[in-house]
Amino acid sequence: MSELKICIEIAQPDGMRGNDKGEVIKCPPQRCIVCNGAGGWHIDSRSFSYDPDVGEHYQTCRVCKGSGSVAAQILIGWQTIGEIKKQYLNTEKQ
Ligand SMILES: [Zn+2]
Repeated sequence: MSELKICIEIAQPDGMRGNDKGEVIKCPPQRCIVCNGAGGWHIDSRSFSYDPDVGEHYQTCRVCKGSGSVAAQILIGWQTIGEIKKQYLNTEKQ
C-alpha cells in the first residue's frame, strides 16, 4: 500500500543569533483520523451516546475542533552542547 511520507532535513539556519526562539515548520493538513474528516458526529436516537434529555445534536470532534483536518507543527530549537572551550570561558562580560 502506498503512503505519503514527509521528511525534514535539519540544518542550522543561516543568520542564527544566540537569542533565536526556534524555527517552526508547518506540515500540510491531513484528514483527522478520529472523525474521519467529518468534523464530528450527528447524535440521534440510534447513537450509542444518545441522551434523551439532550436530544438530537451535533458533537464536535475534540481533536480537530470540527474542521475535519489537522496539521503538525514542529518547533526546532538549538541549544549549546558540550564543554565551552577554555579560551572562551568568562568572556561574556567583557
Ligand atoms: Zn476530527
